[in-house]
Amino acid sequence: MKIYNTMTSSKEDFVPYDMGENAQINMYVCGPTVYNLLHIGNMRCYVVFDTIRRYFEHKGFLVNVVQNFTDIDDKIIQSADEEGISATEVAEKYIAEAYTDFKAMNILAASVYPRVTEEMPEIIAMIAELIEKGFAYESDGHVFFDSAKTEDYGKLSKKNIDDLIAGARVEVHESKRSSVDFVLWKPRKTAEEPSWASPWSDGRPGWHIECSAIAKKYLGRLDLHCGGEDLIFPHHENEIAQTEALQDEPLARYWLHNGPLTSNGRKMSKSLGNFSTLREVAQNFSHEVIRFFLLSGHYRMPIEYSEELLISAEKSLNRIKNAYNALRELAQEPPIPVDMNTLKYRLTFETCMDDDFNTANAIAVLFDIVKDANMLIRNLKITPHLAHEYQFVLHELCELLGIKLGDVQTLHIGEEYIEEQLRLREMARKNKDWAKSDEIRDALTAQGVIIKDTPEGAKWTIR
Ligand code: AMP
Ligand code: ZN
Repeated sequence: MKIYNTMTSSKEDFVPYDMGENAQINMYVCGPTVYNLLHIGNMRCYVVFDTIRRYFEHKGFLVNVVQNFTDIDDKIIQSADEEGISATEVAEKYIAEAYTDFKAMNILAASVYPRVTEEMPEIIAMIAELIEKGFAYESDGHVFFDSAKTEDYGKLSKKNIDDLIAGARVEVHESKRSSVDFVLWKPRKTAEEPSWASPWSDGRPGWHIECSAIAKKYLGRLDLHCGGEDLIFPHHENEIAQTEALQDEPLARYWLHNGPLTSNGRKMSKSLGNFSTLREVAQNFSHEVIRFFLLSGHYRMPIEYSEELLISAEKSLNRIKNAYNALRELAQEPPIPVDMNTLKYRLTFETCMDDDFNTANAIAVLFDIVKDANMLIRNLKITPHLAHEYQFVLHELCELLGIKLGDVQTLHIGEEYIEEQLRLREMARKNKDWAKSDEIRDALTAQGVIIKDTPEGAKWTIR
């Protein structure tokens, strides 16, 4: 099994720390900052690592997943001010919403979801140890990590510390010795701000230290450390610096990063405002379609978010479901389970997934099954036992991707909606509002509806 490791920028054979029977893999996934509903860019990250986790389980490993919640942060405090509630209430609210979204997306639960505010003793102890060993310094109630003290700062992101110092454009905080140093602890700004007592000030931790402290407490040795590629620098680089300052072993054996979900070519993000929450997208598409769409590209590549691509994912998934349902109708379970006719699909599917979790190619195998099954059905060459075998393999491989094959979905736009849109278009044409008329036609085309203007009026078909 090959995995792309960001640390070595290459695909490596997967060799876990624990090699025994029922081997356990420790997997840390950087969790969300909870001040808002999750957008589907965030969801891509959690769906990808859930799929990778499922695949490891399929291979016989026990996977111990730890995923944190950043439940204290400037943005949470700002959200609390805006909503007129406490920071704790904001975090509680969005943690509950995140659980609902994870469940809806069929994401398996982590072993534990530690929250920063509940891990203060460990965080403070780690900062104290960093000071004691000379890797961090206190200044004016703040504590900073002294990046130059580590030998290999920048090894994950392939950045050179001298270039970073030379290129620093941000003004250096007055208490900081160097622009590459980063904050471990900061004093509260106002008396109302949530804060915790520490030897340096009443305040709270910087962002990066939480993951080092939580990973150490709950996992110790990490086989896999995962997150979106935007976390490589500075977040993961800083996690490495902190943890490896205090231990000889690397923080993690393999570093996995998912590519961005983009919107108009730019990474979808809360700060850019170009995001759609999962809740919004789920108004028009089922969670399975969204999951299928998010897995349709290789996890390290960018995926562009668009309604058209979701519609196309919906159609593709419907093709699989249609074939599955047709097979189920014909199927009869054999007395002894067999898989010799479908073993080739399983093997190819595994070959794709063994190659750095190539879900795009693995999904292509699903379509090979559908094509072959449809052909057998059409040519009346399918026996009830063979139908059972085909539906079984389709079901199992979809399950591996976390996709349940339930009943067939109808296209999310109904006939009435199309007729209504065509009436509006007709009105626009009568009023010579060509722009409006084109806009309606383009929107329908994007949703898979083909319009043909005839002397009897507009006719439509589904692509
Ligand atoms: P945040 O709450 O912003 O820290 O994000 C939580 C997780 O979602 C992190 O692992 C991010 O890297 C990931 N993430 C955020 N935006 C995107 C995006 N547009 N595409 C893929 N992953 C993302
Ligand atoms: Zn982290």
